[in-house]
Amino acid sequence: MHASSSASQLPSRIEPFKWAEQGFSWSGLVPLSRFARIASEATVPAGQSDTDALTVQVDCRLYMDEYQRIAWLDGTLVAIVPMTCQRCLELVEVPVATEVHLALLTAEKQIARLDEDADFVILSEEQVVHGVDDAQMIDLIELLEDELLLSVPISPRHDECENRHQPVVEDEPEQIKRDNPFEALANLKGKLDS
Ligand SMILES: [Zn+2]
Repeated sequence: MHASSSASQLPSRIEPFKWAEQGFSWSGLVPLSRFARIASEATVPAGQSDTDALTVQVDCRLYMDEYQRIAWLDGTLVAIVPMTCQRCLELVEVPVATEVHLALLTAEKQIARLDEDADFVILSEEQVVHGVDDAQMIDLIELLEDELLLSVPISPRHDECENRHQPVVEDEPEQIKRDNPFEALANLKGKLDS
C-alpha cells in the first residue's frame, strides 16, 4: 500500500506508474526547504533566521493516458523566492512559477508515442530507487524541482531597479569642486568673526 493522496505532506518517494494507474492528485503548500536546490538560491530576508517560512504552492496529479499507455505528471508550481538583486545587491522578491506537463517514460522508444512538442523525462536507473517488492520509486519532489528550476533566474534583478549603485568614480571629482573646502573654511571664519 502506498500513502494516500489525502496525506498532508506531499510525498517524495512515489511509484509513478502504479500511482498514475490509480490516479493521484495533491494540492497544498510545500516548504521551500524541501526543494533544496532552489532553497540554496534564496537569500534569507533580514530579521528572519532561515528560509523556513518560504513555501511553494503545488498542485499536481499523476494519471495514465489509456490510449497511449503513457503516465503523465501534470502540475502547477508557484513561489516567491527572495534573492539578491545583481544590480543593487538589495533583496528582490522573485516570482518563480511553472506549468508541468511531463510524460514519464522508461525507454527512449516510447518517445514515438508522444506528440512532437511534448515534454518528457526518461526515468533512468539512477532516478529509480527500488523499494519493497522491487517497486519502482522515484523522487517526485526532485522531478518537480527540475521543472521549477528552469524558471529561477540566473541573475535576479529588480524589474525597475531604483537602488542602482551610482557610478562613484565619475561623480566624485565634481563633488569636490562644488564643495570647495576653502570656501567652507571661509564661511566658518566669517561666522566666527561676527
Ligand atoms: Zn535592484
